[in-house]
Amino acid sequence: MSDGDVREATTERASETTDFDAVVVGAGFSGLYMLHRLRELGLSVRVYEKGDGVGGTWYWNRYPGARCDSESHIYCYSFDEDLYEEWEWSERYPEQPEILEYLNFAADELDLRRDIAFETEVTSASYDDDAATWTIETADGERVETRFFISAVGCLSEPFKPDFDGLDTFEGEWYHTARWPHDGVDLDGQRVGVIGTGSTGIQFISETASRAGHLTVFQRTPNYAVPARNRPLEAEEYEEIRENYDAIWEQARNSRLGMPFDPDENSARGLSEAEIHDILEDRWQQGGFRFLHAFEPGHVLSNADTNAIISEFIREKIRERVDDPDTAEKLVPTDHPYGAKRPPMDYNDYYGTYNRDDVSLVDVEENPITEITPDGVRTTADEYDLDVLVFATGFDAMTGALLAMDIRGRDGLPLEEKWADGPTTYLGLGMHDFPNLFTITGPQSPSVLTNMPMSIEQHVEWITDCIAYMDREGYDRIEATAESEQQWVSQTNMLADNMLFSEAKSWYRGENVPGKPSIFTPFPGGLEMYRGICERVAEDDYDGFELREATDAPTVEQ
Ligand code: NAP
Repeated sequence: MSDGDVREATTERASETTDFDAVVVGAGFSGLYMLHRLRELGLSVRVYEKGDGVGGTWYWNRYPGARCDSESHIYCYSFDEDLYEEWEWSERYPEQPEILEYLNFAADELDLRRDIAFETEVTSASYDDDAATWTIETADGERVETRFFISAVGCLSEPFKPDFDGLDTFEGEWYHTARWPHDGVDLDGQRVGVIGTGSTGIQFISETASRAGHLTVFQRTPNYAVPARNRPLEAEEYEEIRENYDAIWEQARNSRLGMPFDPDENSARGLSEAEIHDILEDRWQQGGFRFLHAFEPGHVLSNADTNAIISEFIREKIRERVDDPDTAEKLVPTDHPYGAKRPPMDYNDYYGTYNRDDVSLVDVEENPITEITPDGVRTTADEYDLDVLVFATGFDAMTGALLAMDIRGRDGLPLEEKWADGPTTYLGLGMHDFPNLFTITGPQSPSVLTNMPMSIEQHVEWITDCIAYMDREGYDRIEATAESEQQWVSQTNMLADNMLFSEAKSWYRGENVPGKPSIFTPFPGGLEMYRGICERVAEDDYDGFELREATDAPTVEQ
């Protein structure tokens, strides 16, 4: 069957049995591309999006300083030459408003909005095995049936806020960075407190220090922030990028991180400490993920000796930048090796911020927060009066947004029950007992360890090919086998166990949310290895999945 025949066949089938061929949840990078590809296949698709616009994470995270750590020329779609030829990024790293503008531009160029239901939250999804269909319900009472249910909810979309006593008594204003008001917050001259020093907190703190009357940072664990070296993109530089885009994409797709850095120049093996230092110094000046890529990340994250040199190198940089030695020591991370937690970037002299008289650092590991009072924050040692309290406390990562939807698989099995001991998937794409459900950048896929658009494109294209294959071959159901799922989870854990990830308490392992099972969630083998595995699975007639011929489906009694 040609693509055209598939198109005709599937459109017909949709009108006969279900409301849609596919329902996609989320209109960020993944949901938009998924809609585009399925439409090209001729399928009828409905996207549900909680926000009133496209953008996903970039729609919600509007806090001051929000910016992406991937370089802008690769933080975009590579599948459509017109899109990347027409769009021009203004800086080396894209700021949130510009990324949001880009995704709006892409949605318009591809004419995507007409299939997106905005301000619509999916509240439940349940699977019927006889019909091989999903029933999706929304908060405003809509109920639709679909053959395929595709999650594009993102990995970092369900905010996590610690449950401090007394927050309801606070007389100032409080906000979570991931739900920042669209019309902004007036922080000028205010006494601002911020809890959290992850990637978000570090961006927020650097950006806000000069605006707030006084900024109090409540830090539990210090982090290794590497300078991003952001700057405007010059016209000649952009010209060079444009001329080389084909090669850039090729290299990014076939790299570990989904970034086009040269893999040949970065072995640390056999180098002396002084030689390693020289390379690190050079990469420190280049900034951003090029620093992590000074040496092969797989090596940095698995070789304790190399990692110790790098970690100490950054610690020294922090000590050099902070004037007060006591404050400097509080900012120096000693509890985990570099990279075992997601390494944040420093856009705006983060460490220098602590040399200001109007910024204070409170160590809440030493003196934990006991409660929020009407006036501010109380710790075991002191009280801090605030006008505005900001939670930069991160996300219920990787699983939170999926579990928020009440997804039920075969025989009503709740996803929450299946994942009671932590998420399990096959390839991060599908699950046993949950046929015809695809998860874009789901748990146990490379996702957050890579440049996200590269991983998203790979998943969307794989899912599209899989659905086209099913329609061509006459299958109505696809389901990961229990064995393949088990093996995949073991393989992911084994790779992670050989790296240094277990030496940090992090959201990679679900450990930032009290009570959440601790399991390393992203696939740590890199995008290149993962892509190869997915391609082999597809070539081998979707090895590890079970496919059911539509003719074998039980007939529904009238
Ligand atoms: P995060 O990395 O999980 O950081 C949360 C912060 O809140 C940590 O410092 C944590 O301390 C602190 N915290 C949590 N509960 C606390 C409590 N009860 N008391 C005191 N402190 C508490 O979250 P995030 O900064 O939002 O970043 C999450 C991820 O989003 C990043 O790792 C990154 O992948 C992505 N992101 C990317 C960018 C970018 O590309 N520029 C920007 C922002 C976010 P502990 O460390 O002690 O737990």
